[in-house]
Amino acid sequence: MRLDKLLANIGYGSRKEVKKMLKQGGVLIDGVPAKGGNEHVEPEKQEISVFGEPIEYQEYIYLMMNKPAGVISATEDEVQETVIDLLEFEDAVRGMFPVGRLDKDTTGLLLLTNDGKFSHALTSPKKGLTKTYEALINKPITEEDVLEFRDGVYLDDGYKTKPAVLSQKENGQPNEITLVITEGKFHQVKRMFESVGKKVLQLKRTHIGSLPLDEDLEPGEYREMAKDDVEKLL
Ligand code: URA
Repeated sequence: MRLDKLLANIGYGSRKEVKKMLKQGGVLIDGVPAKGGNEHVEPEKQEISVFGEPIEYQEYIYLMMNKPAGVISATEDEVQETVIDLLEFEDAVRGMFPVGRLDKDTTGLLLLTNDGKFSHALTSPKKGLTKTYEALINKPITEEDVLEFRDGVYLDDGYKTKPAVLSQKENGQPNEITLVITEGKFHQVKRMFESVGKKVLQLKRTHIGSLPLDEDLEPGEYREMAKDDVEKLL
């Protein structure tokens, strides 16, 4: 990787600012002053320091966000705010993208990474990772809905959903539910309820696999995931 790109990516400033630091002789590679920004470096193997501070390089980043309503799960958009717009500059510039999608009005657990393999592994239909949602429905659910969701319902395009576990939310009202699904079709939860004549009024994702949303995160906040949590999902 080019040295100037690496330093800019980590957050040492724009490429122009990085060039200036290089000119001042502030960047050492294995103790030797770097000659210029276009030098090829291997941050995993070489020791790189900036004005005496060793850089901390991590190729891949894994973030957990409590997605707020009103932002879209995309990397860029000319009009609407995206989940990437909510990231600090140092994170946003590292090629981050959301793992799967939540609708604009859906809140809750969203993972972001720059690791394509991780994202692919988690979203692969073969993997069948569970996703848990809590929702407010316009009517109380019935025992029949629970059985229909268990056996699979037909969405508006004729697709039959895989077995899903529907229950009333613990300590919740009859129209507050928890739903566990193993798929991620477009608007899946909303369309599943439409198929039984009901409407989702609010939707929040609370878990991906066994990973819960950190309830300390306010809507719009995010934090880096623990290594164990990353590995547990794979
Ligand atoms: N199902 C939906 O309908 N919307 C989401 O955002 C996620 C699952």
